[in-house]
Amino acid sequence: MIRRNSFRIRLLAAGLLMLLAGTSYAAKSSRSSADDGSSLTVVIDAGHGGHDRGGIPGQRVAEKDMTLDVALRLRNILSANGYNVVMTRSTDVFVPLGGRVAIANSYRNAVFVCIHFNATPRSGASGIETYFYSRESLPLASAIHYYVAGGAPSENRGVRRRGYYVLRKTNVPAVLVECGFLTNPTEAAYAQTTSYRQRLAEEIAAGVRRRNAVGSAFGTTRVATAESIPLQPYMDQTKVASSKKSRSHKKSARKKKSSSKRSDSEARAASSDREG
Ligand SMILES: [Zn+2]
Repeated sequence: MIRRNSFRIRLLAAGLLMLLAGTSYAAKSSRSSADDGSSLTVVIDAGHGGHDRGGIPGQRVAEKDMTLDVALRLRNILSANGYNVVMTRSTDVFVPLGGRVAIANSYRNAVFVCIHFNATPRSGASGIETYFYSRESLPLASAIHYYVAGGAPSENRGVRRRGYYVLRKTNVPAVLVECGFLTNPTEAAYAQTTSYRQRLAEEIAAGVRRRNAVGSAFGTTRVATAESIPLQPYMDQTKVASSKKSRSHKKSARKKKSSSKRSDSEARAASSDREG
């Protein structure tokens, strides 16, 4: 069940990206389709902070520092483009998930963009993935993923639907973008360069600006819907004990085919920082 869904998601994500690739010229050449940001508030959420370092135990590059740097760069770009920008944090402080959601929900005409980097014990895992939950968040997720995955040298892991707290509890379109694996030596090396973090911020900003253009370029029949991207299982990480995580890792590792690029335990390990 889980494996089949995961395969379907990959297929759908691949199909969506093929559609997106076909419209790249139209989307990029049509200036009128990008909004001027005059009425939209973008709430930028830099993942983790303070005592919450992010990532997995023993991880060398602190996720909280990378997310904050990209978030601050994104703020500068969007502010320069006329958007009203609000940060859930702009320094190295801990903000509870509920506090982050409350900030997003205090604005009416807003979008919520959560910036994270991935982590997993398997250092070979790599790539960009973008999460959404509500149907109204899919155009924003598609657009951000299109630009970030298109602008990064990393593997494209697709647009995924999952009920992370910050996506589930927000009343405005909300997206969580995983900007690569800090446990992958190549992606960690990229993330540690200012030019790459600036690139990530620029691509996320492009997705925000063209959030309505990327999806609408398909017409109504060809675009993926929230229903066609099935909800992925997730665990409420506030209730997961570490012993349970390692047991499930072994179990799914046994079941895993050698050709599989990732396991569900990886997804859980990678997500452990976001919910906890
Ligand atoms: Zn994270």
